[in-house]
Amino acid sequence: MNLILLGAPGAGKGTQAEVICDNLKIPAISTGNMLREAVKNGTKCGLEAKSYMDSGALVPDEVVIGILKDRISEEDCKDGYILDGFPRTVPQAEALDSMGVKIDKVLEIAVADETITQRLSGRRVCEDCGNSYHIDFKPTKVEGVCDKCGGKAVQRKDDAPETVLSRLKTYHELTAPLKDFYAAKGILVTVEGQDTVEDTSKLVLEALK
Ligand code: AMP
Repeated sequence: MNLILLGAPGAGKGTQAEVICDNLKIPAISTGNMLREAVKNGTKCGLEAKSYMDSGALVPDEVVIGILKDRISEEDCKDGYILDGFPRTVPQAEALDSMGVKIDKVLEIAVADETITQRLSGRRVCEDCGNSYHIDFKPTKVEGVCDKCGGKAVQRKDDAPETVLSRLKTYHELTAPLKDFYAAKGILVTVEGQDTVEDTSKLVLEALK
């Protein structure tokens, strides 16, 4: 089963990807996490991506497509995977098609912009493993410490309020058109993001049956 999670930044894609990953036993692939790792390690691709990411813009398609292509050719992806944060533009979706990737379902998590802005101000992300938390809705057991790996859970630079607005604008302009792209293929399912992670997860798992 190859799945795509679609939704604005902060809609809960990463959190729900984890839930689906536990249920279906297929890996969740986040291009955002992979790019942050590349930036942290100072790789060529990381150096190229950093300024785009800091300003809330999208990293050029050819860079992200290359990273994704390598990742999905790895052994753990042979029975399927969940894409979180890819594709983010119509050319990226077309690149998946031309790689011969068959997508079974595209799950949109719909959340209003006002809610997104509130949510992102409380989001914390592990510097080491990329796991996502929220100070109110999904707190770490020990403040500032990742439950999974013990790394430091910090606020992402691009979760600053001014950057969030430009990320939302980019989402509506470049990513939201993917809804029509996949609706036309008959594989788009929309779930309304709920106030709690658990309530959203119930709807998500139901939608995947
Ligand atoms: P995310 O963690 O998914 O919110 O991604 C963080 C940042 O990484 C985005 O704001 C973009 O700058 C970059 N990024 C992640 N995925 C993509 C993608 N598929 N295409 C272009 N840029 C991306």
